[in-house]
Amino acid sequence: MIPRFRFWSSKDELLSLIQPAWKDYIRVFEAKIAKKFNARYGISFPYGRVAQWSFLKAMGIMNTEIIMPAYTCSVVAHSISLSNNIPVFVDIDLDTYNINLESLKKNINKNTSVIIITNTFGNPADALKIKKIVNKAEQNFKTKIWIVQDCCHSFGASYAGRLVSDFGDVSIYGFNISKLITSIFGGVLTTNNRFVEKKIRKWRDKNLKKSSLSKILSRRLYFFFAIIAFSRLFYKYTFWLTHKTSFLNKYTKSFHLDEKIHFPKDYDQHMANIEAKIGIIQLNKYDKIIDERRRQAKNYVKAFQFEKKIQICGSIAGATYSHFPARVSDKKAFIEGLRKEGVEIGEVLQYSIPHLPCYANLGYNCKNAKYASKHTINLPLGPHIDTLKIIKKINKYLLKV
Ligand SMILES: *Cc1c(COP(=O)(O)O)cnc(C)c1O
Repeated sequence: MIPRFRFWSSKDELLSLIQPAWKDYIRVFEAKIAKKFNARYGISFPYGRVAQWSFLKAMGIMNTEIIMPAYTCSVVAHSISLSNNIPVFVDIDLDTYNINLESLKKNINKNTSVIIITNTFGNPADALKIKKIVNKAEQNFKTKIWIVQDCCHSFGASYAGRLVSDFGDVSIYGFNISKLITSIFGGVLTTNNRFVEKKIRKWRDKNLKKSSLSKILSRRLYFFFAIIAFSRLFYKYTFWLTHKTSFLNKYTKSFHLDEKIHFPKDYDQHMANIEAKIGIIQLNKYDKIIDERRRQAKNYVKAFQFEKKIQICGSIAGATYSHFPARVSDKKAFIEGLRKEGVEIGEVLQYSIPHLPCYANLGYNCKNAKYASKHTINLPLGPHIDTLKIIKKINKYLLKV
C-alpha cells in the first residue's frame, strides 16, 4: 500500500529517540527556524495552534474580529474562538485554494484586528495585494491590523521572489508528522519585531509549564511508533489498523477533533526538548525535502494538467507542496478505486470550517470552500513514494470511469 503521506526519517531520528537529550535544544531550534525563514526571532510552542493562540493572548487581542480562510485547518478557527475573538470566514479561490481578495476586502471593518493568511497546500497567497488591501483599511479605520502568515503548509514558500513570511507581522509554523518537516508535535512563531518577541516570550514563560515526564516519554514513544507505522515494511498493517478497526482512531482524536472547539490536554506545556532535537535534524534536510516534493509535484502536473476528470492547480511559482490537491467529481469512488490499486489517497481538509456544526451558527455560506471540501483529494507525496507509479494507477482508474 502506498501511503497518502510519509515523513522523512532516517537513523538519525531513531538514534535521538533512544538517547537522552541533555543539551537545551529548544533555543537552538528556535534560532535555526528563524534564520532559515528569514526572521529575527523564533519562539517555540507545544503546537502550531498554541503559537497562534498565544500571539492573540500575549498581545491582548480579544473581543475582535479575526479574518481567516474558510477552507483551512479547523485548529486555526479554534484558536481564535478560544482567545475570545470571533472568526470571520472568507471564501477561497478554487484555482489556488487561497483566500479570495474581493471577499477579503468586503469583510474588513473597524473591529478587524488580525488577518490570517494560510498559504494553503503550500500555494503562496498574493501577499503584495493583501498588504495593499490591509494598508488601505488601516488608514480608513485608523487601527492596526496584524497580518499573520500561517506557514504550516508553506514553510519557505515564496511570492514575487520573497518568502511569504516576509509579508507578515508574525508567522506560524507547525511540525506534526504530516507537515513538511516534523518535530513530533510542536510549533514556532517567528517575527522581526523585537517588542512583539519580548511580549510573547514573556507571556509564554509565565503561562506555559515545563514538559511533564509523561509528555516527554509519550512523545518519544509516539514518534518511535510513527516511524515504524509509516515504514515501507509495516504500512500495510497500519493501513489495515486505521481503516478496518478503531484502534488508532482513539489516539489520533485526542490531538485533533474538528467538530469541537478544544485544545489537546497538554496544550499548556512547553515544547519538549526531544521535539526540538528532532526538529533540528529535520531542518537540516529541509532543502532536500522541498526539492524532492517539487520534483514529485511536477510529475503530477505534467500528467494531469490537461486531464478533465481530475482538476489540479497547475504549477504555481514559489509553492512548496505540503500537499498536492486535486478535485474529482466522485471523491468516495476515487478513493475506493485507488485503494484497490494499492494507493491510499489523502483527504487533508474534509470540511469547510463555517459548515462545521460548531461554527454553523455564525451563518456563513462560503460556497467555494464547501465545494472544495466535497471534491478535493490529496495525491501522495513523500520519501520513497513513486509518483510515476501512482500516475499510472490513476490513469488506469480514470479509463474506467
Ligand atoms: C497543521 C496546521 C496548523 C497547526 O497545527 P498544530 O497541530 O496545532 O501544530 C495550523 N494551520 C494549518 C493550515 C495547519 O495545517
